[in-house]
Amino acid sequence: MTAAVDFRADFPVLRRVVDAGPLVYLDNAATSLKPQSVIDAMAGYYDSVSANIHRGKHILSEEASERFEQVRARIAARLGVPPRNIVFTTNTTDGINLVASGLPLTETDLVAIPLDAHHSAQLPWRERCRTVWLAASPYATVDEESFRAALDRSPRVVVLTAASNVTGHTADLDRLTAQAREAGAWTVVDAAQLAPHRLPRIGESVDALAFSAHKMLGPTGIGVLYLSDRLIEELTPSKLGGGTVDWADEHEFRLRRAPYRFEPGTPNISGVYGLGAALEYLDAIGEAELAARDQDLLTVLLAQAKSRPYLTVLGGLSDRDRLPVLTVALRGVPDPSTIARALSDSYGVMCRSGYFCAQPYFAAHGQTAGLRIAPYLYNTEGEIEHTFAALDELHPLLAERAR
Ligand code: PMP
Repeated sequence: MTAAVDFRADFPVLRRVVDAGPLVYLDNAATSLKPQSVIDAMAGYYDSVSANIHRGKHILSEEASERFEQVRARIAARLGVPPRNIVFTTNTTDGINLVASGLPLTETDLVAIPLDAHHSAQLPWRERCRTVWLAASPYATVDEESFRAALDRSPRVVVLTAASNVTGHTADLDRLTAQAREAGAWTVVDAAQLAPHRLPRIGESVDALAFSAHKMLGPTGIGVLYLSDRLIEELTPSKLGGGTVDWADEHEFRLRRAPYRFEPGTPNISGVYGLGAALEYLDAIGEAELAARDQDLLTVLLAQAKSRPYLTVLGGLSDRDRLPVLTVALRGVPDPSTIARALSDSYGVMCRSGYFCAQPYFAAHGQTAGLRIAPYLYNTEGEIEHTFAALDELHPLLAERAR
């Protein structure tokens, strides 16, 4: 297996030294670092192409269009679907909003939403419909009994969190989407946290699946949305403009076929170049190797947390169906932002505190906030140990101060 050190040289930010010493970046669930190849691909677009796509017949425009569509085809192949079902968005939030605003729903319709859903996967629906919450079990993003009870109420849409950004737990997408489809619901999957670790093959019961490039080594401002053929038929594009119609006169216009009808205006072309390079980087490592590294990182995270009685791990200590994303509550420290600040300033450790846009989950579990430690392929076991040792030093001081 390749060690983290073999990847580290590819990530220029890791060369930074902060006041407290070498940078330890453990905020990957918020966004990942970018390898040099991604930065070069984006700069390369501006350096030597720079033209708009799809609308020109000159060499530069053709070159940009070709690369744009190549990246779409590569993503489609990795997800096991045709390119026409892949829409470029700006991020996961944009993708879920595109679906929520385009489906013909009324305020009496019911949408089932997991309690651990990110605000981006819940608020777009709560705006429009009634909500039935799916409780999280200690081992999964969705509790079985709660799921079955929700399906009995015939929701129009079932939202699923492929992997929680709080607990790292993953969902059994094939089984849950099949059950939801059988109950007559549209299935919408938030794969923002799963995609950096593995791109799922899209099962036949998935209607929509969204993720963001920036969490998987790619740039910000570019996202991916898969739409099933049956959903494409039902969805009204919420934004129209250049590129979305293939014909218009002063009375009427005709929408282009998918995916173009959902991609209005000039897209983030350099972002797509960057996403293409990120996919190439991840594909060169391979999913088996990524999974093995994730397992090693998760094992260290859980072992370190388990041996410290002052820490409570949200979502429990099981390593079953889980990614290396760990949120802890610290006894006697109601506001872990003080810890995150001190970790950064005194130890060079960047991790995140708060409720991570999953406030209903925290409220339901009697917590106000947590500290999230989220390593990725370039992090070492040593960095994780360093972070927990820092917590041992900081915790008594900050608990005393909070008293
Ligand atoms: N869903 C989950 C599970 C996430 O972790 C995030 C990002 N924290 C989002 C959705 C939203 O992603 P973005 O901000 O890229 O739209």
